[in-house]
Amino acid sequence: MGEQTPKQVVIVGGSLGGLFIGIVFTRLGHNVTILERTSADVLRDQGAGISVSPCLTAIYESIKALGTSGAPVIDFFTEYDRTGFPYYDGRCKDKSFRFLKRDGSVKQDLKTPLLLGTCSWDLLYNVLRANFDGGYEMGYVPAAGKREGDGETRYLDGVRFTGVRDLGDDLIRIEYEGLDGEKKTLDANLLIGADGPSSTVRKLMLPKSERKWAGYVAWRGNVKESEISRETLDIMGENVTFFYLKGGHILHYKIPGYHGTLKEGDRMCNIVWYHNVDESGLQRILTDSCGQLHKFSLGAGMIRPQVREEQRKISEAILTKPMNEIFQKMEQPFIQAVTDNLTTKAVFMGGKVLIVGDAVAGLRPHTTGGLSQGAMHALFLKSVFEKDATMSLEEWERRVIGFATTASKIGVDFGTLSQFGDHPQAE
Ligand SMILES: Cc1cc2nc3c(=O)[nH]c(=O)nc-3n(C[C@H](O)[C@H](O)[C@H](O)COP(=O)(O)OP(=O)(O)OC[C@H]3O[C@@H](n4cnc5c(N)ncnc54)[C@H](O)[C@@H]3O)c2cc1C
Repeated sequence: MGEQTPKQVVIVGGSLGGLFIGIVFTRLGHNVTILERTSADVLRDQGAGISVSPCLTAIYESIKALGTSGAPVIDFFTEYDRTGFPYYDGRCKDKSFRFLKRDGSVKQDLKTPLLLGTCSWDLLYNVLRANFDGGYEMGYVPAAGKREGDGETRYLDGVRFTGVRDLGDDLIRIEYEGLDGEKKTLDANLLIGADGPSSTVRKLMLPKSERKWAGYVAWRGNVKESEISRETLDIMGENVTFFYLKGGHILHYKIPGYHGTLKEGDRMCNIVWYHNVDESGLQRILTDSCGQLHKFSLGAGMIRPQVREEQRKISEAILTKPMNEIFQKMEQPFIQAVTDNLTTKAVFMGGKVLIVGDAVAGLRPHTTGGLSQGAMHALFLKSVFEKDATMSLEEWERRVIGFATTASKIGVDFGTLSQFGDHPQAE
């Protein structure tokens, strides 16, 4: 495999998964073009917290069983980051999972051997872009700089991948279009679909593949630490804190603030509230202020005032006081429907087309395994495409699908128990 490595690589999707892959291939000396439909300035502004390693022991163990350290994101940055920019907050790493009672007091602290490093999507995106192509206009992480032997990099945003054709031998033709609808093509040796749970690449290869809603949504958002009362900050501490109730749960952890700052007071209090809704409720909350219905998510600033107000009232009525304070103060929450997708194949067209990351399996967010999965796919691909390859593409696919199947089930079981069952911590 190492002798026939492709030279022109096109990656569909310039989110975290696509950037992991792009960095690996460019450091192997290949020329990489990323096609991303969303502009970088909109993309980076996800306002979301993200954990750098799995928070479920079962996910950690499954990753470890594949011969990794169990924390592939950390492994990835250790090997590939040239910026040295602090990319996560490790203050919670020796602390606990903290469970609260409805009255706001601490019910239980559970020490965990897992690394609880917390980060923001925005910071990870910036560090990865600085490593991939030196960053973008509004980026704040200094460029990592090219080294001899690195391949060329292009990150084209505002372009949508539409199709791929096999040209024979080791060539494929990639079709895409700009925001103005202008159609373009690009010839390459390898196409990698890092285009997320609704992947177009996957749909072209496996037309019957589906993404299904799981019966609940996540309300997410942040409030600056300095705007939260001392009482609430003290209760939260540097832990990952949960409040479970019948039919849902909410969690909190601190994440880096503006431009990745880790300064106390300037960090963000990050909330994820998993809340059950029925089908008509889903459609109602995912309809934006202009009356447009969105399929799986509604971004910051798009939630209708009456929907926000109703959720504020529910928060007041059922959440524990510290969580309610943060939810009430969140200015720009956003909503994500929790969904499942799982494929049975990740290699197509005789190895000229691959899918990675959430396109393979969109794991339930409780697993905090999605990011680890993306980093692991990239690290394993290095073993396939490096000069002295130590893994075949068949073995890569076997590991990728094996992990996705296991992790997907772990996530579904966890979600079913915590949202629809009798969770032992539920108040
Ligand atoms: C708000 C949020 C919070 C998260 N929290 C966690 C967490 O705490 N822990 C964790 O492990 N994981 C978390 N995840 C998941 C994690 O971010 C993903 O698993 C990881 O980024 C890998 O995803 P991906 O890049 O494969 O797909 P995605 O992040 O879904 O990216 C797909 C990209 O492809 C682009 N795209 C799609 N179709 C096309 C097309 N036709 N043409 C061009 N571009 C296209 C999309 O615009 C998007 O940028 C979170 C995700 C989000 C969005």
